[in-house]
Amino acid sequence: MRYVFLGPPGAGKGTQAEMISRKYDIPHISSGEMLRENVTAETKLGKKAMSYMDRGELVPDQILIRLIKDKLSSPDCSKGFILDGFPRTVVQAEALVSILHQLELKLDAVIYFDVPFEELITRLSGRRTCRACGINYHIKFKPPKDKRVCDKCEGTLYQRDDDKEGAIQNRLNEYQRRTKPLIAYYRKEGLLITVEGGKEISKIFEELCRIFGVARYE
Ligand code: AMP
Repeated sequence: MRYVFLGPPGAGKGTQAEMISRKYDIPHISSGEMLRENVTAETKLGKKAMSYMDRGELVPDQILIRLIKDKLSSPDCSKGFILDGFPRTVVQAEALVSILHQLELKLDAVIYFDVPFEELITRLSGRRTCRACGINYHIKFKPPKDKRVCDKCEGTLYQRDDDKEGAIQNRLNEYQRRTKPLIAYYRKEGLLITVEGGKEISKIFEELCRIFGVARYE
């Protein structure tokens, strides 16, 4: 199983990728989470990426391409993977083709999470993230048992700086300008499957499980 989850920030890609990863026992590769780990560990890469992330802008392609290439080449990705948040530009999508070609692998499909724009702001501004394991909650739609503590690992929950108002608008602008063209790109490649991302979490999950059973491409 090799899938890309594509869609705007707040579309629910991470939540679904986490659930799919658990059910099918394949790695969930979140480019945003990998970057945040580097920021927390104060690596050279993290220091470079941080200012872009805080502003809600995309981090330069070459940084991401190197990061994802290393990850996909690691043995734990040999059974498959869910790529969440990568690629986000056409340059990244083309780099992914060449990485997979070198590894003699092929994508099964790209799942596009289609969510009305107005809803994304509500979702992003109510999102809370675990500092320890990176899992996302939502104060209304997916509340944790205790609003300060992660249900899974008991890490502290916080609101990401880029989930605050000013940065949200920049992230949505970046999506429109640089990531949205990937919908046409993957449709042309015959890899795109659209799911309605505005539905309940459990309904989307059921639909994804059906898709993974029998893929239907557009
Ligand atoms: P996410 O957790 O996917 O919402 O990503 C958080 C932030 O990390 C984004 O707003 C970008 O600044 C950066 N980022 C994550 N993935 C990518 C990517 N594929 N290309 C460029 N920047 C990225």
